[in-house]
Order: sequence, then structure tokens, then C-alpha cells
Amino acid sequence: MKKRVLYPGTFDPVTYGHIDLIKRALKISDEVIVAVAERSSKDILFSTEERMDLLKKATKGLRGVKIESFDGLVVDFAKSVGAHVILRGLRMVSDFEYEFQMALTNRKFNPNIETIFMMPNESYSYLSSRLIKEAVSLGARVKDFVPHFVEAALKKALVK
Ligand code: ADP
Repeated sequence: MKKRVLYPGTFDPVTYGHIDLIKRALKISDEVIVAVAERSSKDILFSTEERMDLLKKATKGLRGVKIESFDGLVVDFAKSVGAHVILRGLRMVSDFEYEFQMALTNRKFNPNIETIFMMPNESYSYLSSRLIKEAVSLGARVKDFVPHFVEAALKKALVK
């Protein structure tokens, strides 16, 4: 049976931190399904299609990666695609509390699905999509943190 990992998130937009995690997940699985949440409690800049397109471009050279979108419960989507493992990233202690609550809640909803956590390379441990959006809107160059086409999309959306 194929070992499938589901990596859900907002990805608004994808950063090298997300890519780092996808590459690590590929080392322990046959397939990584990146699941773009259509809705989020966060303010979303890019449409679902735009976020998926940027992810597709950013993972083009990686074998075993699929980009999908979902609405509703993560565990239900995981079950529907045959994934028994949900991957989330842990950057700093500040991520822990929320992730802990979510993992245990998801376990209550579906005890057959495990959540695993991975840590990115330390150079991405302070990187977030929110920070990148803020930096670009203030005029910063972000080429060390996102692919060039993501930077271009951010500039187009945020710099008047
Ligand atoms: P969400 O709204 O689900 O938190 P994000 O797109 O911000 O969506 O993040 C998706 C997942 O990727 C989360 O588990 C988050 O912790 C992780 N992540 C985000 N940025 C990084 C990073 N720089 N390094 C490692 N993991 C990250």
C-alpha cells in the first residue's frame, strides 16, 4: 500500500519553509498530498486557484507531490484520499499550543489518522507567509524566502 501523507494548510503563499517540509515528508512516504484550505480563519490574499498554481510551480521538480484543495474537516479529506498521516510544521514553541489542540481534536474526530510534526531547516524557522506579505507590502525583497514567481505575484497583489 502506498504511504500517503497529507500536508494541509493555507499556503498564502507557499514559502521555502513549506517546500522544506514537503521534501522531508517525501523521505518518509511515497506521496505527499498538499491540501490547500479553501477557507481559513486568517485573512487570505490569494484565491484557492492562485495558491494551488504557485504550489504546483514550486514543487514542479519533485516526484510524488500532488496539489489538491479541500473544504471541511481535514480528517475527512485525509480519509477520502486514503492518507492516514497528517503532516504539520513546528517552527517555534509558539506553534505548539495550537498544533497540540488541533492534533488531539482531529484524533477525537478520527482515531485512525495520526498527526506528525516536522521541523524545517533552522534558517526557515522564523519564516511565515504572513511575515512575507507584510515585508513585501513595505517594499522588502524576499528572494531568500520564496521562489521568484511567488515574489512577483506578491508584488503584483500588494505593491501599488
Ligand atoms: P495554516 O493556516 O494551516 O497554519 P500555513 O500555510 O501557514 O497554514 O502553514 C501550513 C503548515 O506549514 C503549518 O503546519 C505550518 O506550521 C507549516 N509551516 C508554515 N511555515 C513554515 C516554515 N517556515 N517552516 C516549517 N513549517 C512551516
